Amino acid sequence: MIKTLRFWILTLISFSLLAILISTFFSSYIVTKKSLINNSLEQNEVYSLKLAQLTQEVFESMQANLEARKPDVIENIDDPIELTRILDQLLISGKNFNSLSVIGSDAVAIATSPNIGIAGNKIESPGVLEALSKKTNIISSPYRAVTGRLLILISTPLFDAHNKYIGMLNGTIYLEEDNFIKEILAEHFSEDGSYVFVVDKEGTLIYHPEKNRIGESVRENKVVQRLMEKQSGAKEIFNSKGQHVLAGFSYIDASEWGVVSQTPYKSSLNPLSGIMQKMFFYTMPFVIVFYFLAFLLSEKLASPLKNLALFTMNSNSEETYEKPQISTWYFEAKQLTETIERYRKKHEETLADFKQQSLTDSLTGLRNRRYLDLLFTDLIEQNKVFSIIMIDIDHFKKVNDEFGHQAGDEVLKFLANNMTSATNDKGVCIRLGGEEFLIVIPNSPANVTYELAEKLRTEIEMSMPPINRKITISTGVGEYKLNQESISSLMHRVDEALYAAKSEGRNRTVISK
Ligand code: GH3
Ligand code: MG
Ligand code: MG
Repeated sequence: MIKTLRFWILTLISFSLLAILISTFFSSYIVTKKSLINNSLEQNEVYSLKLAQLTQEVFESMQANLEARKPDVIENIDDPIELTRILDQLLISGKNFNSLSVIGSDAVAIATSPNIGIAGNKIESPGVLEALSKKTNIISSPYRAVTGRLLILISTPLFDAHNKYIGMLNGTIYLEEDNFIKEILAEHFSEDGSYVFVVDKEGTLIYHPEKNRIGESVRENKVVQRLMEKQSGAKEIFNSKGQHVLAGFSYIDASEWGVVSQTPYKSSLNPLSGIMQKMFFYTMPFVIVFYFLAFLLSEKLASPLKNLALFTMNSNSEETYEKPQISTWYFEAKQLTETIERYRKKHEETLADFKQQSLTDSLTGLRNRRYLDLLFTDLIEQNKVFSIIMIDIDHFKKVNDEFGHQAGDEVLKFLANNMTSATNDKGVCIRLGGEEFLIVIPNSPANVTYELAEKLRTEIEMSMPPINRKITISTGVGEYKLNQESISSLMHRVDEALYAAKSEGRNRTVISK
């Protein structure tokens, strides 16, 4: 399968372009994907940190709220009605508590707000027991209270003027109901499937957008495990439900909780196809322009060689030679064109040389019999009148015998020279072979030709050849009978005339009628 150079140039360009595009798109795809993943991880980390800080601040303000009312509570520890009033106020001003209570050192509830019906009861919930035993500020782990609610307890101890422990002031957060954590975190729940959840130090869900999961342990989650080690950061993981997610996580000091903000891996990559499409549409105009330019350039690149090829193809024919008009603007084409041109010229010269040689008699330099054939054909084609003189040296054998063959050759050259000068461009002188010659004279009748033959004959008779012995020639003359005879018949007639000249005594001219 032979294709043009241009085809191969375009193929090469197409392949290169394709390779560049594929590698560019592929690497862009990888880089964009990585940066989208990193972005998402970073965003989630920053977001979880922000939420952790916010939560921390709320805890601190809750603790501060409790601390602020402690003196009033201690002062009124024996007045449940006043205590209830104080707690009511605190519930409104503190906002973030779902309920408040004062519990004595004997674990009996003294006052609550709102009235949840436990005043006077002994409370032995895990939170209260922990607060009783530690007698410090605590934030409890989630537990189910006697009221059946899942809650956490924020507790601060109460000491009287003698520094005697007299009970505790508690605030609660109901995890399964509207609470401040939900207010802070629910905002983040978005359409792409991102959400936030909070775990306590045991890896139990304190907040989760799916309410029914609150209280569930997710400690097998890799990110939760890191939070339980009090670490913060970001990580690509499979969560407890087997979902591939990008999670940012931050540890909250105050409560020893952890906030996890996560985005499904797939959602993070949503912009990817759009980015790749955009890239494709931004790239395409350049590709088209580049390809168009490459198309033009390929033409320009291939044209010198193409023209050269067409030129060498055409120059096989016999048409007259014309120098190729090839713009050679680069080294190889220029060199090739010049070389072909040089060989072409040389070849032409050699051909011309050979042609000349093949039509020339090497001894005398006259035209030969092959040339004569062409000449006759030409004259007949042109319907031209012409005459011929056939010449034969008299007793030439004797010259050879007496002076040798080489001297004989000199005599042949001598005769040829005389023929040429006698003809004087009016005709063509030919050596037929041996010591027989012919002169063809176009546009000349037999009588004029006869005179030329006689002139030549007498000149030979009078002049001295190089052997220093005079020679004579016999000639036969004849005019071609246009449209009446063939060349061989003319030759035959003139040969007979020459034979007649010989038999009539030689050194004479006989006309064939
Ligand atoms: P005639 O007068 O009848 O022509 O006698 P002639 O001796 O010339 O006889 P003919 O023409 O038959 O002889 C031809 C001779 O020419 C024979 C040969 O020795 C000689 N000859 C032919 N070709 C050459 C050649 O190339 N060089 C030389 N030196 N001699 C040649
Ligand atoms: Mg002869
Ligand atoms: Mg002879």
